[in-house]
Amino acid sequence: MSSTQMQDKAGSTMMLAVPETEQAAGWQVQAIEKYERSLPAGRAGLREELAARILVLTGLRVSSEDAYADASGRLAVAGVDGTTLRLYRGGDLVMVRSCAYCETGRFESPQISDVADFGYALGVWRPLHEDCEDQDGSENLAGW
Ligand SMILES: [Zn+2]
Repeated sequence: MSSTQMQDKAGSTMMLAVPETEQAAGWQVQAIEKYERSLPAGRAGLREELAARILVLTGLRVSSEDAYADASGRLAVAGVDGTTLRLYRGGDLVMVRSCAYCETGRFESPQISDVADFGYALGVWRPLHEDCEDQDGSENLAGW
């Protein structure tokens, strides 16, 4: 095998990553199949972990049946007394709240790792759209 041929081989390998008509390589198919096989257990596990985290934070027992895992198994969501919590695969837990001013949209709190973090998200954290902040400011001026 000459060095010219090796260069050719390298060149065609780089091109393989680009065209969409090429069939997926074996390792790609294997990885995707592995993901798809692990998906049902992964989604159930995520719901159970979220229920367990809620129990630690609130003392309330939420059934994992009441938690919802998204189709891709990336996150699970559950509501407790009107508070929505979202757990990401990998362990990040956040609270979800709408804009404190216009009550639309969905904002995620800083990561919650213990009850004190949860208390901050519940009691102090007030998400706002940028425009809503501006409106707040002009309201204050109008009041003056
Ligand atoms: Zn808003």
